[in-house]
Amino acid sequence: KLPQVIIIGRPNVGKSTLFNRLVGKKLALVDDQPGVTRDRRFGEAYLLGLEFSIVDTAGWEDDDPDSLPGRMRAQTEVSLHGADVALFVFDSRAGLTPLDEEIAHWLRGQGVPVILIANKAEGKSGETGILESYSLGMGDPVPFSAEHGEGLVDLFESLQPLI
Ligand code: GDP
Ligand code: MG
Repeated sequence: KLPQVIIIGRPNVGKSTLFNRLVGKKLALVDDQPGVTRDRRFGEAYLLGLEFSIVDTAGWEDDDPDSLPGRMRAQTEVSLHGADVALFVFDSRAGLTPLDEEIAHWLRGQGVPVILIANKAEGKSGETGILESYSLGMGDPVPFSAEHGEGLVDLFESLQPLI
């Protein structure tokens, strides 16, 4: 059985783009509109010879902030508890938002190893967000660009010991 990796993060940070990058096919819908990925999507990923199953989630994609606690987490939680590693993606250009912090807080209590992915970090655009992300207490973020395919070696090096 392949190791299981789950992608988690607030809407629009690039989860589906990362999924597509690792799976190498356009299996997940990517759009400027948050909420395009309505369901979990499953794929088989390859990263520099590392093979694993990967899940793209949409557990926090809901326009109504009042509904955040609880409801949208259910299906993400189901996937998370079967996972060996969670890739927690944030937008390093936008910096941390309260929702990122809420998700981080939730993730820390789940007992699954987390790799923090500083997405949209092509060029130097992510530097401030990357520094900010140390406040999450989740270790060194992996500077990444799902769109441009940057950071794959760093991701490999973080992932490989965990799966
Ligand atoms: P999701 O809602 O987290 O699944 O995010 P998507 O993968 O749908 O991406 C949201 C938007 O961010 C899209 O317009 C993507 O093209 C864009 N995006 C994703 N990855 C990157 C990246 O590495 N750099 C930049 N600049 N944009 C990105
Ligand atoms: Mg998506």
